[in-house]
Amino acid sequence: MAEVYHNYIGGKWVPSQNGDTFESCNPACTSEVIGVFQRSNKQDVISAIDAAHAALPGWMSTPAPIRASYVRRVGQLLERDKEALAQLETREMGKVVEEGRGDVQEGIDMADYISGEGRRMFGETVPSELRDKFAMMVRQPLGVVGLITPWNFPVAIPTWKIFPALVTGNTIVFKPAEDTPAAATALVKLFEEAGLPAGVLNLVTGYGPEAGAPIVEDARIRMISFTGSSAVGREIAAKAGRDLKKTMLELGGKNPMIVMPDADLDLALEGALWGAFGTTGQRCTATSRIIVHRDIADEFTTRLIQQAKSLKVGYGLEPGVQVGPLINAQQLQTVDEYVQIGKQEGASLLLGGKRLTGGSYDNGYFYAPTIFGDVNYRMRIAQEEIFGPVVAVMPVSSYDEAIQVANSTEYGLSSSIYTRDVNLAFRAMRDMEAGISYVNAPTIGAEIQLPFGGVKATGNGHREAGTSAIKEFTEPKAIYVDYSGRLQRAQIDVEHHAS
Ligand code: NAP
Repeated sequence: MAEVYHNYIGGKWVPSQNGDTFESCNPACTSEVIGVFQRSNKQDVISAIDAAHAALPGWMSTPAPIRASYVRRVGQLLERDKEALAQLETREMGKVVEEGRGDVQEGIDMADYISGEGRRMFGETVPSELRDKFAMMVRQPLGVVGLITPWNFPVAIPTWKIFPALVTGNTIVFKPAEDTPAAATALVKLFEEAGLPAGVLNLVTGYGPEAGAPIVEDARIRMISFTGSSAVGREIAAKAGRDLKKTMLELGGKNPMIVMPDADLDLALEGALWGAFGTTGQRCTATSRIIVHRDIADEFTTRLIQQAKSLKVGYGLEPGVQVGPLINAQQLQTVDEYVQIGKQEGASLLLGGKRLTGGSYDNGYFYAPTIFGDVNYRMRIAQEEIFGPVVAVMPVSSYDEAIQVANSTEYGLSSSIYTRDVNLAFRAMRDMEAGISYVNAPTIGAEIQLPFGGVKATGNGHREAGTSAIKEFTEPKAIYVDYSGRLQRAQIDVEHHAS
């Protein structure tokens, strides 16, 4: 019998009020049930918001360095449990265990970085135009915030939101993806172990429309930080907009890698393989379009096919496996549908294009690494996010055409160029419409000390991580202190300017 896990509300592990549950299964071996989790609904969300609301005054008034000490402690516990958590990620979500370790490491890095903010969290002091008057800006918490996360980085993405939200003095209702509740529960348990006061962090597991939507709709939630698909992001933005609720939306991508004729081809190929097929292509920053100059397109494509053919697909806990399964049956179907669309659109299927079957493949959602050639930028497979091990090779004749193709989608998350021409590299850094650009590296590989997020339909102008994280989870407050002992009217009682 699989273990039953509960919601964490007001410092207690509690079942959903209607008693409904759901199972989380291993995508590489679907008969393995990772655990049974609470299928929460509006009533559970209300309880969680009640608890977060009750905990808010005490948490807001806790000094920021003390708040940050809980985050630092959880960072240490993540370090202690790194291997166990990485293996849990592989079992629950499918990424190969080395990548699972990377995912947990990102959480450790974030704890390291953001706990220091407890002693920084810079405001501003500026001169006043009046004598004996002091002017400053301080950062204040937002209140109760709702955090809704996807399954592809089951530890890292929640830490990107929970850690800065806590350091800045907010209390939290956290709804993780239905595909990765075990990883989320394991993370929340570390906060319990660290002694975080009851009600400061609350976990409700369940399905988006049942357990996510009520968080967005509750008037007491001051801000929603959401990472997921553009479709759900749009829905959340529309609802939150009606209530003038702050939202931070990190959405989809269709990330281009440009390869110029002067590039180091070995390096570009290595980057392309990692960017396109790492995490089975299920990264928001995955390299899904390779825009390659015609002068080298044939050689590049032939070698890419050769190398992708030798990738080992399988269960991510087995030694040597480089590509794991897709997350679930729905995603397997979506990927296959896009492959059929690509064929109908006239792209050349150069590798893969099918579900892997036979032996242990039959136990999970495995799909062959897939390469399309001769892809035109108008095709749906060049425009829409597939979120699987499918990459489109798109030949172009010039740098200008490469940029035009790179910028031709509605998304703008990550981008990259391989070239040894420094002038071209700088032009690309300027010209690629994206929140993140790489030179001589693939589109994946962000570090937590720089802002993370995208332009156009990838988001709504906000950024996670880096110094942005503090800005996102606080409201600036302007404060004026007049110690002159008399009424001084701004703009009116100002002394004469020099003439
Ligand atoms: P998703 O379907 O949009 O789900 C994301 C989260 O929203 C899940 O917790 C989901 O719950 C919940 N949700 C679904 N419907 C909801 C609703 N009506 N109201 C409130 N919450 C709702 O995305 P996903 O499939 O988990 O993740 C893949 C997507 O995330 C891709 O598009 C990828 O590009 C994007 N992503 C973006 C970034 C970034 O930083 N830009 C990073 C990683 C991933 P359920 O799990 O129950 O559906």
